[in-house]
Amino acid sequence: MIVDSLKLAREQQRVAGRFAVAQLPRLVESLLGNTGDLDYVIAGDKDTHERPLLRLQVSGVVQLQCQRCLEGFAQHVDIDTALRLVAEAALDAEYEACGDDPSEPECIAASSELDVAALIEDEVLLALPPYPRHEAGVCESKLVGANVASKVASQSVTAFSALQALKVN
Ligand SMILES: [Zn+2]
Repeated sequence: MIVDSLKLAREQQRVAGRFAVAQLPRLVESLLGNTGDLDYVIAGDKDTHERPLLRLQVSGVVQLQCQRCLEGFAQHVDIDTALRLVAEAALDAEYEACGDDPSEPECIAASSELDVAALIEDEVLLALPPYPRHEAGVCESKLVGANVASKVASQSVTAFSALQALKVN
């Protein structure tokens, strides 16, 4: 899906839709599996200085792999951000201004052919944790559970071997 970002902002139009995670290959590389959907709304607007911007909301659930216990878990995506549209030629100069002030919206290059899927993909990638992990305590309880399970298994093997030994005698 392609939109004219400046036209969207100027006419304060709104586009909304849903992407299956499987449609976003760069995102899938960072996930555990390709299940889930992401709903999005992009609304054209202007800032207090009459500069064009896009308000972007993305929500959904993706599957991440915990880097501690390697199990999967569901991560909610809930993005609500504003992106200021800057002429591509001015982007370098403007980018520094944007980067200096955290209260200012992020800048992206204005484009008459904005690829909506790529934009959503970029924003979701930025929003994901760099080192995905379960919340505190979750992995620990899983790991303790796994240890108990393997102990029980090894004990029952021992008991079974003892029975076998008895039978042989
Ligand atoms: Zn974990």
